Amino acid sequence: MNAERPSRDDAHPDIRDAIRALCAQFPDEYFRRIDAERGYPEAFVDALIGAGWLAAMIPEAYGGTGVGLGAASVILEEINRCGGNAGAVHGQMYNMGTLLRHGSEAQKRAWLPSIADGTLRIQSMAVTEPTAGSDTTKIRTTAVKHGDRYVVNGQKVWISRVQHSDLMILLARTTPLADVKRRSEGLSIFIVDLRESIGHGLTVRPIRNLVNHETNELFFDNLQIPAENLIGEEGQGFRYILDGLNAERTLIAAECIGDGYWFIDRAVRYANSRIVFDRPIGRNQGVQFPIAEAYIEIEAANLMRYRACELFDAQKPCGAEANMAKHLAAKASWEAANVCLQTHGGFGFASEYDIERKFRETRLYQVAPVPTNMIFAYIAEHVLGLPRSF
Ligand SMILES: Cc1cc2nc3c(=O)[nH]c(=O)nc-3n(C[C@H](O)[C@H](O)[C@H](O)COP(=O)(O)OP(=O)(O)OC[C@H]3O[C@@H](n4cnc5c(N)ncnc54)[C@H](O)[C@@H]3O)c2cc1C
Repeated sequence: MNAERPSRDDAHPDIRDAIRALCAQFPDEYFRRIDAERGYPEAFVDALIGAGWLAAMIPEAYGGTGVGLGAASVILEEINRCGGNAGAVHGQMYNMGTLLRHGSEAQKRAWLPSIADGTLRIQSMAVTEPTAGSDTTKIRTTAVKHGDRYVVNGQKVWISRVQHSDLMILLARTTPLADVKRRSEGLSIFIVDLRESIGHGLTVRPIRNLVNHETNELFFDNLQIPAENLIGEEGQGFRYILDGLNAERTLIAAECIGDGYWFIDRAVRYANSRIVFDRPIGRNQGVQFPIAEAYIEIEAANLMRYRACELFDAQKPCGAEANMAKHLAAKASWEAANVCLQTHGGFGFASEYDIERKFRETRLYQVAPVPTNMIFAYIAEHVLGLPRSF
């Protein structure tokens, strides 16, 4: 076993090597400084987008590289595994999926090539609202058609990377809840051009949070968007959002796997080098066993991540595997984070070791983009056939 990178590196070694080389230009000090400043890793994001890595899932016909989910997931995994945080950029990889799957040919031709070459950033997707929470069909933001425009009113919360994006996918209600047969109907998806919208019906208020994650409250006050920015059929937006979740969840799982290996690597290194009571702390079973256990959990979660990728790339149903991969990976990375912090004793709390930063970052993924309980509810109902609980 390679002590520096204690995992199988079998999948997509070329991509791994290239991402590692890119990330080597952005060492720990870079991400530490950005975190302390509550800044945005502009240079890092420019380098990734400039090299085309975030266009991985855009088909070649629209200017991307059109690789499968497995290969794309390795890109995000390696960013986190090298000490960075793909949370600053992952939206650019998967938010375009709704447009790709459900947009018209004209919309795809209009937007995707510019997204692929990085001219346009589609880093944001606005679903969550303060009063609806996980109960998405209860969102109150409305889009009402007036001639060749939709007029949007309402509020969103926790909408990420809006300040570093040109375009945003928006979910809004186009038919009142009282007028639809099923609560999942009457919701629609739009592309919002943030460059034209902010200050003209859209107000953005940043939320300071546990992680250095650029996320915001959005207020819509008669925001006008061209009717041609509706994606797919009016009223089918909830289904379109669900269609994108398997890719998103599997990609986030890969990021957690990357975090997990990073924590294991740091814990092993420190346990081998820190001398207390005249011996490396790693010689104590009380120190080494928790690291070994955390490593086992990461490896197991990684298998489910690759299973979800295989099914997705074979265009087979993968809802259960994508959800299970996300859950297992988020849990395993958090356990690895905890073990890594404990192994470092007091030094784990010092910013210069980067552990407290990564510890905060990886914690997010048990809440967003989907909380653990919602995954349990999915498995209980759709896999095990238990009664719907909400
Ligand atoms: C940093 C950050 C970035 C984010 N970025 C985005 C973004 O870009 N776009 C976006 O749309 N959203 C984003 N989100 C929102 C995120 O997706 C939501 O926070 C998440 O879906 C949960 O919604 P909520 O916070 O309203 O929790 P709630 O729905 O209020 O739930 C609170 C808790 O109760 C539990 N719970 C609720 N109902 C049940 C039930 N019936 N059974 C069991 N447990 C239940 C939940 O699992 C959760 O643990 C982000 C959030 C954060 C923190």
